Amino acid sequence: MTEVKTLLKNIDGSRDFIIDLQTKMTACPAITPHAEGGLGEAAKAEVILETLKALKFDEIKVIEIKDPASPTGVRPNIVAKYYGQNRKKTLWLMAHMDVVPAGDLALWKTDPFKAVVKGDKIYGRGTEDNQQGLVSGILVAKAMMEAGVRPAVNYGLLLNADEEVGSRYGIVSILKKHRSLFGKDDCFLVPDSGSCGGEKVEIAEKSLLWLKITVNGKQAHASMPQNGKNAFVAASYLVLALRDLYKKFNKKDRLFDVPFSVFEATKHEANVPNVNTIPGQEVFYMDCRILPCYDNKRVLAEAQKIAAAVAKKHKVAIKVEAVIDEVSKATDKNEPVVKLVSKYVREIYRKQPKIQGVGGGTVAAYLRNAGFPAVVYARFDEMMHQPNEYCSIKNTMGDAKIFLLTALNLK
Ligand SMILES: [Zn+2]
Repeated sequence: MTEVKTLLKNIDGSRDFIIDLQTKMTACPAITPHAEGGLGEAAKAEVILETLKALKFDEIKVIEIKDPASPTGVRPNIVAKYYGQNRKKTLWLMAHMDVVPAGDLALWKTDPFKAVVKGDKIYGRGTEDNQQGLVSGILVAKAMMEAGVRPAVNYGLLLNADEEVGSRYGIVSILKKHRSLFGKDDCFLVPDSGSCGGEKVEIAEKSLLWLKITVNGKQAHASMPQNGKNAFVAASYLVLALRDLYKKFNKKDRLFDVPFSVFEATKHEANVPNVNTIPGQEVFYMDCRILPCYDNKRVLAEAQKIAAAVAKKHKVAIKVEAVIDEVSKATDKNEPVVKLVSKYVREIYRKQPKIQGVGGGTVAAYLRNAGFPAVVYARFDEMMHQPNEYCSIKNTMGDAKIFLLTALNLK
């Protein structure tokens, strides 16, 4: 008991360490080299490696993923491990090094790439997304190392490149080409999203299905509708007919914040430039967020069936195709890592944890689909991607305590 207290106290005493590391990282804008002027993660990775090497990790390595657009030709991903008593299993904390661009500088009160400390807050691009989680993860290791404590299973840090633009040079490649890094019983903490109060413990997301719908009719002069087939009119009927997807796939799952699947018509491509032409083609899109109990293929087939009926009635041709089709597995709420995080949210923040699913499209889906339990958790003021982004030092410490207690108690 006293041992745990010593470890938690170590985290309470880490304000200077947090500010120092945040300041050094913020000074290295790790923006994707695929955006204008982006230099990638190389400089930031150096700063982080310097910090990790000063601690007592048993293994530190850099996995470089080839990217010709990067000034160094590669994108670095850092893997560091502190051995537990059982070396066959690892609790990973996964965070990302890259940041989004600063955006409109006129909206910033301070230089986005120079950390500024005001009370509990550290301002700067990336301080919250994802440096807060990254620092929390390092604090966990540092506390255990300085007290000479070994967790039951290994504690690993996986610090990735390229999260903000699709993870192609980060976790996606790592899972594909370096799968041997992971043991079959490994699990993950991903401190990359959360709620202001720190209640939200995210374990699932909806599957994502984006549909492109092309309606082909026949162009004609607007004064002569009998010579054409109005694709816009047919598409409009179809937009409304597709609302039936809500009825067809209407199951509820209270785990999710929006507890049902959603099927929304969204983007619409320009058709004809002038008012006096009946458009011969219409293209529009749907964003579908589907509960895990449904199969994306069934939704696509149902949308095609609805489209076929509209096509017949309006004498047009309609093609419905999937442009994004990402199925997402959920992490079981009874997984030990979920239970432990929830327990310590209660203990550290004195909040009732809310185990939840989200709308879809997060980096944890790659891990869950690869078969690993993954908990997305952080206490965030939700400043990510915004001007005047900041992180909270208190939240950095609080999250670190939750992760530390999880690491100490996971078997
Ligand atoms: Zn992030």
